[in-house]
Amino acid sequence: MSDATAVPTHCPYCALQCGMSLRPTGAPEAPAEVVERTDFPVNRGALCGKGRTAPSVLSSRVRLTGPLVRSPDTGALVPASWEEALAAVADGLRRARADHGPDAVGVFGGGGLTNEKAYSLGKFARVVLGTSQIDYNGRFCMSSAAAAHQRAFGLDRGLPFPLEDVPRTGCVILVGSNLAETMPPALRYLTELKENGGKLIVVDPRRTRTAEQADLHLAPRPGTDLALALGLLHLVVAEGRVDEEFVRERTTGWEEARAGAMSHWPEQVERITGVPVPSLREAVALFCDAGSGMVLTARGPEQQSKGTDTVGAWINLCLATGRAGRPLSGYGCLTGQGNGQGGREHGQKADQLPGYRKLDDPAARAHVAGVWGVDPESLPGPGRSAYELLDALGGDVKALLLMGSNPVVSAPRAAHVEGRLRSLDFLAVADVVLSETAALADVVLPVTQWAEETGTMTNLEGRVLLRRRALDPPAGVRSDLEVLHGLAGLLGHGKGFPADPEEVFEELRRASAGGPADYSGIDYRRVEEEGGVFWPCPEPGHPGTPRLFLERFATADGRARFVPVTHRAAAEETDAEYPVVLTTGRVVSQYQSGAQTRRVDELNAAAPGPFVELHPRLAERIGVAEGERITVVSRRGRAVAPARITASIRPDTVFMPFHWAGEGRANTLVNPALDPVSRMPEFKVCAVRLERA
Ligand code: SF4
Repeated sequence: MSDATAVPTHCPYCALQCGMSLRPTGAPEAPAEVVERTDFPVNRGALCGKGRTAPSVLSSRVRLTGPLVRSPDTGALVPASWEEALAAVADGLRRARADHGPDAVGVFGGGGLTNEKAYSLGKFARVVLGTSQIDYNGRFCMSSAAAAHQRAFGLDRGLPFPLEDVPRTGCVILVGSNLAETMPPALRYLTELKENGGKLIVVDPRRTRTAEQADLHLAPRPGTDLALALGLLHLVVAEGRVDEEFVRERTTGWEEARAGAMSHWPEQVERITGVPVPSLREAVALFCDAGSGMVLTARGPEQQSKGTDTVGAWINLCLATGRAGRPLSGYGCLTGQGNGQGGREHGQKADQLPGYRKLDDPAARAHVAGVWGVDPESLPGPGRSAYELLDALGGDVKALLLMGSNPVVSAPRAAHVEGRLRSLDFLAVADVVLSETAALADVVLPVTQWAEETGTMTNLEGRVLLRRRALDPPAGVRSDLEVLHGLAGLLGHGKGFPADPEEVFEELRRASAGGPADYSGIDYRRVEEEGGVFWPCPEPGHPGTPRLFLERFATADGRARFVPVTHRAAAEETDAEYPVVLTTGRVVSQYQSGAQTRRVDELNAAAPGPFVELHPRLAERIGVAEGERITVVSRRGRAVAPARITASIRPDTVFMPFHWAGEGRANTLVNPALDPVSRMPEFKVCAVRLERA
């Protein structure tokens, strides 16, 4: 159904960025309704419950509609004017900087911010505040895949091919992704794959609704999928399945990677992972017998203290079998957050500048400084990664500006992070509701939502999309760009921070020119007319690049790099005191920290709270029945939630979704051990014990 009065846009939530249209109603209690939009190829009109109900947050009774400032008298957050609130933020940041130096001010962004906001926030941190202490919650999302992508291919774009290629490949290995819950409209790509005669292998410790679709489900112990990939590569070599010509012509480093795989015998891999050797052999046969193939990863292999190497092991499997850099084959990461891709390209990451340039590259610094009109020497160097920055709050970082994130719920070792946030001299938070993090702030700035502002997002395929403003925001609410514009002015930078998103995008284009993520040929008009443009798009008139690496990889010599990897244990192994593995994840009716989706009645009815999923044998051992409350204890703290008993999970593993605060906050338990390359915390594996609550 099309509707001339509806504004075409995209969902505010995940990286699929499903197309939808919004029809303004004029009714304050429900200002817009979702209208099906079938012209966007990624979802062809399909939406999950989160997308369908997204307008509810626009008129939520708990929505912030005016700034709040903490009263020095009562300690409570009280209403303030925008002038008072912005002045208080500028004062708080200025004071920390004056007393302790520029790096005493931190900035924390989010993977849901538009490209324009991510760009402006990075520029604001480095130019206005002069701080190196900026990172964002995307570090907790796909950073291991990004690092592995860079290492092997010289360029990180989550999917180097459009989703429409997936049903046409021969075999997909889906590793640590539960698409049926995280991106339901994308499940059709796997259904069509099977209808076309392709094979699906799902690697997941849980028999999820996605795993149920598979021709073969491999259920390794959490944290052992690196060994699993090595075992498969071992068999590929042993069974003479290596694509020797591809390896010779298009890669480097094979001998070292091969030697690493050959030292992981299938029987040894079975002992480590729990996956029987015959299943390993079956997986190799399915993958290699198909003429083409893909490996797609998500948070399962990535959110580990060895996430970069784990993803690297799966990339090695693709390279050895010639499943990369060819039509309908390759490795891809299913990025999670709405702008998880664009959010990492434009400079809100601790080590990067716009255009996905490296902050420690002198040529990159000179180029971006030229666009910004500043001395390259004035730009700070790389700062701390997200968890390290949060852990430093109240230490040498005294003040924090936070936009588009809720780390009280989403960060690892969450109770500790909450304590660090409370210990700050000054905290300012921009959000649409009083999230658990905003509730701790000295100043809360109420900002516009996706339907009330214009901006671009880059979805998991690297497709740059435009969300047009469909509604006027409530009085008393400003956009994040207006916030940065106002703060920059108060801090002595009256120019360089426009509040108009298209003006920001025009500068972003110039800043990205010549970089790995080159947006120079993309503009709002094109994105709107063409329904999206794939980067790199280095000049006006360039068609964009839906498929990467077909001729050459983005390394200096054009060859993909094998990186030798070996299995190692999780940072925290089970023992007599903590004998069970905890793994965390998502459910279909909530999104990330739940700051928005927990405010939607329909979603709350479907997913009202946290739970502990465990196997009947484990439930019997600790004596809990379905629905009874369990306390899960790790070395970081404890969480309490009802038992959900199911044979679809391994008996040595429990699962908790992480969307909730309070006593059921799963991330309280999570080990913040970091991957040495990506600085990703180990959300997917930690040791716990279970007690009846
Ligand atoms: Fe929105 Fe993602 Fe659901 Fe699509 S799958 S409607 S983008 S939350």
